Amino acid sequence: MSETEQQSGGGKNQPLRAPRGTRDVISPEVERWQDVERAAHDTFGRYGFREMRTPIFEDSSVFEKGTIETLQSAQKGMYRFVDLGGHELTLRPEGTPPVIRAYVEHNLSHSKDVARFYYIGPMFRYERPQKGRYRQFHQIGVEVFGSESAALDAEVIDMAMTWLGDLGIESLQLFINSVGDHDDRPAYMEKLIEAQKDLLAEMSEDSRRRHEINPLRVFDSKDPQDQLLIEKFPTILDHLSPQNKAHFDEVCAYLSDWGIDYNIEPRLVRGLDYYRRTVFEVTSSALGAQNSLLGGGRYDGLVEQMGGDNIPGVGFAAGLERIVLALPEGAGATPIDCYIVTVSPKLIPQAMKVMRDLRSHGLCCTADFQGRSVKAQMKAANRSNAPIAVIFGPDELSKGVCTLKMMESGEQQEVSLEILVEDLHRIVHMADPGN
Ligand code: AMP
Repeated sequence: MSETEQQSGGGKNQPLRAPRGTRDVISPEVERWQDVERAAHDTFGRYGFREMRTPIFEDSSVFEKGTIETLQSAQKGMYRFVDLGGHELTLRPEGTPPVIRAYVEHNLSHSKDVARFYYIGPMFRYERPQKGRYRQFHQIGVEVFGSESAALDAEVIDMAMTWLGDLGIESLQLFINSVGDHDDRPAYMEKLIEAQKDLLAEMSEDSRRRHEINPLRVFDSKDPQDQLLIEKFPTILDHLSPQNKAHFDEVCAYLSDWGIDYNIEPRLVRGLDYYRRTVFEVTSSALGAQNSLLGGGRYDGLVEQMGGDNIPGVGFAAGLERIVLALPEGAGATPIDCYIVTVSPKLIPQAMKVMRDLRSHGLCCTADFQGRSVKAQMKAANRSNAPIAVIFGPDELSKGVCTLKMMESGEQQEVSLEILVEDLHRIVHMADPGN
């Protein structure tokens, strides 16, 4: 079947399917996503970051400084299209350029204050899909504008590690490097290109292509033969200018001081071309081949290139799908407290009234309300994993009571509607040792 057919769900009589490289996120997985997002709002909020929501598509020119070349050199494409008005638009492949575009457009730099933002949302890259790598994926990212201080590099790294650590993700590893800037990069690049030229014949085709477009990106090659060659290349860390070396040492000193474990990885260059000085990546062995959870770095110069003032920036972007994959078992479950069962459809209005009351008192409850048999409703209650079924029958309702059935033991008891809220709270509370 051709890709076009696969994408559209196929030809005649083929079931409709989500496009290749995209996924539907359905309960109980979606609750895991919500957990990660909630933790980001909480943690980033505590660090003084404010959320920014930008459009999903932008003028294509927003991604011209850095993103396009990088994605091309990694053989990834962008979703570009011309709309009915003839505008060249691109579905955003990453969050940093749109946030910078908004930061500049809304004159947010005028106060000269350090500004901290974060975003959550879908990104689009045309690449070869596999587990942990999609064409529509989601990133949670942060950007800090306004200071070159190493304290801010350390702050965003600390925030990322706190967030991922609090989520209970195991075996997190932080890798950090400096890729220099205009002071030291040109001289180093000459040396690197020379070293690569000598070994071109032994390099993979992909790396030879990367060498032509951006020699630094050869470091990203996963090819085993390339890996051996990469060991022989000079590293930028050994060629840093004194200022950039001092900046890097300062970032590392903060991390050591705060007890954050890190590995200096001189061959870490990070995909995006606009990075200057600090770059970092966080991985988890809970993931397979695509083990990178988050990557970031400093991008001084990019704001100016995009039409703003000369304002430095540092940030990271984390892959939501991958964080969800790395979460411990059991995370994200939002239990239903009780399932409402009505003996007759006529009782639905009364049952709904009680349900509204339970919900307004913080209890999570649901019901079937199709008028199915009690047996069918009890089966649905079982499938919902609710610990309690609340059963309404005509005789009981006329007496102002209902029946609670403990789903696990099968035990039943009659309860007055007047104390239903308290009773349910007590039972739910007892059943949840976390409370
Ligand atoms: P990048 O924007 O390329 O620096 O990537 C930052 C993070 O986004 C990575 O560490 C991944 O967790 C995630 N990511 C990047 N590309 C994809 C993709 N195609 N599918 C899923 N996650 C991705």
